[in-house]
Amino acid sequence: MVADTKFYDILGVSPNATDSELKKAYRKLALKYHPDKNPDAGDKFKEISHAYEILSDPEKREIYNQYGEEGLNGQGGMGGMNAEDLFSQLFGGGGFFGGGSRRGPQGPRRGKDMVHQLKVSLEDLYLGKTSKLALQKNVLCNKCDGKGGKEGAVQACKGCNGQGIRIMMRQMGPMIQQVQQACPECRGTGEVINEKDRCKQCLGKKIVTERKILEVHIQRGMRGGQKITFSGEGDQAPGIIPGDIIIVLEEKPHPRFIRKGDDLVYEAKIDLLTALAGGQFAIPHLDDRVLLVNVIPGETIQPDMVKVIPHEGMPIHRVDNRGHLFVKFTVEFPQSNWTDEETIKKLETILPPRPALPTFQDKHTDDVVLVDAEGYQARNSGSSHAYQEDDDDDDHHHGPGVQCAQQ
Ligand SMILES: [Zn+2]
Ligand SMILES: [Zn+2]
Repeated sequence: MVADTKFYDILGVSPNATDSELKKAYRKLALKYHPDKNPDAGDKFKEISHAYEILSDPEKREIYNQYGEEGLNGQGGMGGMNAEDLFSQLFGGGGFFGGGSRRGPQGPRRGKDMVHQLKVSLEDLYLGKTSKLALQKNVLCNKCDGKGGKEGAVQACKGCNGQGIRIMMRQMGPMIQQVQQACPECRGTGEVINEKDRCKQCLGKKIVTERKILEVHIQRGMRGGQKITFSGEGDQAPGIIPGDIIIVLEEKPHPRFIRKGDDLVYEAKIDLLTALAGGQFAIPHLDDRVLLVNVIPGETIQPDMVKVIPHEGMPIHRVDNRGHLFVKFTVEFPQSNWTDEETIKKLETILPPRPALPTFQDKHTDDVVLVDAEGYQARNSGSSHAYQEDDDDDDHHHGPGVQCAQQ
């Protein structure tokens, strides 16, 4: 039994947690709430650091377990170790981690963010889904704790004084050039480890590759381009704060719907009878429902008309409401010669009457008929192309009619 579990709760571990469990929990939380990464978290980072500082010290942990926070008065108050110092200690501020010029005065540098695209269907964005994404990432070797070997095995390279680079002079004709190059002795790392002291698991590289499965929670109503961030899950390396893994959603095109923000657009093909006399058509939705749409007799749907089914669009992200479903109509007319003269006569009594032609007083009128346009257009564009090729030398371009006038 412990007197108080507050510090354990802050780190999210049980009072029986081992040192390595404590360290792991602190590492994870500290990365998440470090002020560089999470400026809005307030004093959370300090709280975590303080809790870890106490619990990682066997003596202080014992006192805390027995007497709670009270018992630590004088040796464990907030004035203890600086949260940043503690952080640097774990992430490579102190000791040989910071060797050379890799660490600036403002603390460990931050690793690169890793960006991954995740293709999602409109159905998944409509219903929400948890996707599993497997990826490879570098983590600090757990066998040597990211040190590359036994305690003290790592020495600053003598060839470059731990800088990892060497300045060489090179004769270039009459000039002497200064060239910076990676130190060949330590291959630019600034450190050397004796072969026998080298960590067997990472071979002194301090990091190993790990397969990581991320659970990406796609929430209802999310959009393409939206980012889901996994704080501090980027590649680990000694002396850096790991960056984030950022998942960018990419919406796959949908065979039935076009998404416009929170609205959906559906192109409905209906027949002429339904358009004029009403009827039903079906829209299979993004969940397992089918919307049976009723066209009211006499409503009259015209080609290219747009109507709306309210609140049947996408769920709005984090809002308990939905966008609308716009329906754009194509009206399919009957094929040529679809019926007989008698029916057409009937139509004349049913449909609104034809509008009267305007009168053309002094004009001569010719009666003509329509033929199928196919074949006419293609021949026309072919001849105009041939004409332009002949006309290459001419500065100005003009139509065939103008050429006739010149001859
Ligand atoms: Zn070197
Ligand atoms: Zn190792």
